[in-house]
Amino acid sequence: MSQRITILPETLTNKIAAGEVVERPASVIKELIENSLDAGATDISVEINVGGRRRIRVTDNGHGMSREDALLSLERHATSKIKVDSDLERILTLGFRGEALPSIASVSRFSLATRETSSTEGTEIIVDGGRVRDVRACGMAPGTVVSVEQIFFNLPARLKFMKSAETEAGHVADVIARMAVSRPDVAFTCTNDDRELLRLQRSDLQRRLAQVVGRDSSLHLYPVTGNDEYATITGFISGPALARSGTQTIYTYINGRFIRDKVVQHAVMQAYRGVIDRGRYPVVALFVELPPEEVDVNVHPTKHEVRFRRQSIVHDAIQGAVEKVLSRSPWLVTPSVATYATSETTGQAYRERIAAAAQASLAIAPLAEHWPQPIKQLGKVLSEVVVSPADNVKVSEPATSFQPERLSTESAGYFSSLSILGQFHSEYIICQSDSELVVIDQHAASERVAYQRLKQQCLTGGIESQRLLFPETVELSFSEVAVAVRFCLDLAGIGFELEPFGGTTIMVSAVPRLVAKNDPILLLRDVLADLERFGTSGAFNDALESLLSRIACHSVIRGAHQLENRQIKELLYHMDHTDFAASCPHGRPVSHVVKLTELQKIFKRT
Ligand code: ADP
Ligand code: MG
Repeated sequence: MSQRITILPETLTNKIAAGEVVERPASVIKELIENSLDAGATDISVEINVGGRRRIRVTDNGHGMSREDALLSLERHATSKIKVDSDLERILTLGFRGEALPSIASVSRFSLATRETSSTEGTEIIVDGGRVRDVRACGMAPGTVVSVEQIFFNLPARLKFMKSAETEAGHVADVIARMAVSRPDVAFTCTNDDRELLRLQRSDLQRRLAQVVGRDSSLHLYPVTGNDEYATITGFISGPALARSGTQTIYTYINGRFIRDKVVQHAVMQAYRGVIDRGRYPVVALFVELPPEEVDVNVHPTKHEVRFRRQSIVHDAIQGAVEKVLSRSPWLVTPSVATYATSETTGQAYRERIAAAAQASLAIAPLAEHWPQPIKQLGKVLSEVVVSPADNVKVSEPATSFQPERLSTESAGYFSSLSILGQFHSEYIICQSDSELVVIDQHAASERVAYQRLKQQCLTGGIESQRLLFPETVELSFSEVAVAVRFCLDLAGIGFELEPFGGTTIMVSAVPRLVAKNDPILLLRDVLADLERFGTSGAFNDALESLLSRIACHSVIRGAHQLENRQIKELLYHMDHTDFAASCPHGRPVSHVVKLTELQKIFKRT
């Protein structure tokens, strides 16, 4: 009988584990900083040479380790952070796998020096490619210093994948920035070849963000707070002015841990729909606090991914908290108009006032049959669009688009408080405030107002469904069927009536009227896929919103159009009572501000 199977030696299993956890210098640094933070450090310094390829050293002032613990910490599956099975259900530390140190030590020339505050001397352990070479006493300050030289020297395949020193240094700085945002109470420094990459003093979140994303950018950040019995959401988000082309400035944290999660990212981007262009991303630092047993972080060795027990609740809580801020377009309120950015208390009062105004405008929004004239027209266009291809939508008479509802003089929203100078090119409204010239795109503005009303109408009137003359059968995957069954009632709420038809086939007997002509089955599949992935129906909302914005666009002032002063006033008034007033439903800006100081610069008056 032959024996083919052997148990691998530990140096090899550590190398295999390293393959998962240690991808590049930045991942080593992430693990080491996590350890420092778990050890209660308040000062962490990172030194790298040649982007970390030659040397990495992380020094902290945390609680350190005894000689015995230091030796144990290099063993596989040795950890001080969990003890019994049930601890896995409620992880409160960043680490818990007991894998990082042995993995890193197995693919580098490694040394660990550590001292507990209560001890007079430290312990230094030298490891070479996973083999302990020396253990000795050493003099050092309390805390821990880990040094990693010649990473992957014994793993040539990995070595080949390392990039230039600059690229690796960039990744290192990114990793530190992410962790630093989550812990503004900890000081971080980083040098590459003795050149300083980062120096972050202890401070608060807003200042830390300013240090990480830039001071100018930080002036355009707005606080987020959301609190229900399940999740607490805090942080800062940007308006459209800071839109970037990549997702790297979206920092999201679950219970203090930086994560890249599809559900969380989707929730954030859903909230930004219509506020920034597609393919652009905001600056966001969001902290979601959940009971630890609601999140599983034991998903991937790098711990960047998590699973939520109640995914859709988390998704909607995040989307709701971000939308709440964006819907008020806080960036329209410059410090010269209200001291939003400078004073927390007045900012708060102002935000509350705006929220109250928005609330009031919703409260007085009439029911479908009582909509004022323009909305009735929109309703007409709405039914036209259902029966005609969208591009041939008839344009209703635009001049009467704005009817006063209740123009009260005490409404001092941003737009109403501007004084009107006139109209330019019959397309732009020119206004001024104390120290600003404000140019408003009248089409974009009226489109936004019309869109909100349409949407409101859709919400209050429910979403109409249309019976199919010949019900359609649709083949689904097993998981799609399960989702269809689970969300059967929600799907009916948005107009889809489904019945089981045996096996993985379902019968569709009604579809939402608005999309009846636009391949509703394709939409149904998208909705099911979305429900499966995120537990919410982003796809349906997407389709609905793009349809509504197309109708809104065709139903209001288009091209050049002379407006009377009264009509401009009405438009400005409505803008103040519209959510997301700063951009049209396609994400284009509604207004542009030229500051007095900018003009003075142009005319060399300064
Ligand atoms: P984990 O962090 O998952 O427990 P690691 O291999 O990263 O696994 O670390 C093993 C153990 O070594 C930790 O549980 C901790 O007790 C100890 N340790 C590691 N780094 C430090 C540090 N910087 N300061 C104090 N203790 C540390
Ligand atoms: Mg660790």
